[in-house]
Amino acid sequence: MRSGDRLVRCGQGHTHWGRYGAAGLLPYADGHVLLQHRAKLTIGGGTWGIFGGARDRDEPSVDAALRETAEESTLDTAEVTVHGVMREDHGGWSYDTVLATVPSLLVVEPASWESKDAAWVPVDAVADHDLFPPFAAAWPRLRPVLRRPVLVVDVANVMGSRADGWWRDRAGAAARLRDEIAAIDGLTGMAPFDVAYPERVLVVEGRARDIGAGDTSVRVVAAPGDGDDQIVATVAEATREPGVPCLVVTADRALKARVRAEGAEVTGPRWLLNQL
Ligand SMILES: [Zn+2]
Repeated sequence: MRSGDRLVRCGQGHTHWGRYGAAGLLPYADGHVLLQHRAKLTIGGGTWGIFGGARDRDEPSVDAALRETAEESTLDTAEVTVHGVMREDHGGWSYDTVLATVPSLLVVEPASWESKDAAWVPVDAVADHDLFPPFAAAWPRLRPVLRRPVLVVDVANVMGSRADGWWRDRAGAAARLRDEIAAIDGLTGMAPFDVAYPERVLVVEGRARDIGAGDTSVRVVAAPGDGDDQIVATVAEATREPGVPCLVVTADRALKARVRAEGAEVTGPRWLLNQL
């Protein structure tokens, strides 16, 4: 028994598994999501849901979802890129769906008594399956956010909105900002996710052009000319694929209108700086 393995009653009067809440993983690859065919003797036996289970005391939902998936299936969680968490809060109990992508339709087998099967199901065919009722209820909200979101940062604009001496050393200040953005664990306020782990793209220009990515996982794009033109081009590239949410961080009014026309959402530098 683990610390969270217990039935509890939520604020809405239901009985749920998981003293500290529960979490599950919804991996996406190439137009498919990975579903678990639940074994007969589980709650909702015979239906299709996602791999997951009870969170341990103080266990982050991302860790719990990956741990449970690794216990119940052969999915190699090292191949999983987490891109967001969506919470279903019942008051005193919550279920966190951890949305993620894997690079391809990896072969996945069931690996515990709770799983009868594991299958990559085409997104369009999910609703045709006999779904585990809580997953069926959540699916309409999850379906539009299966793709990893992209965060595009107007570095010159964000840098200019804090007085840290950037005017003396633009490249140094841009590299500092890059490292701080790379160090953020999860971003809050990137709707509709409760916590988002977007691909982070920093657009740099002028004297900050050559900073590169350093040893971080952020992507740094150097504008060959005008920074705004590069940001618009970067957004257009991200939103070309349907279903990829894109958020641009800038306070530049003209640029805001241009990126909104490309399908991006916009937020101001303060939102990002508050999370560093
Ligand atoms: Zn409930």
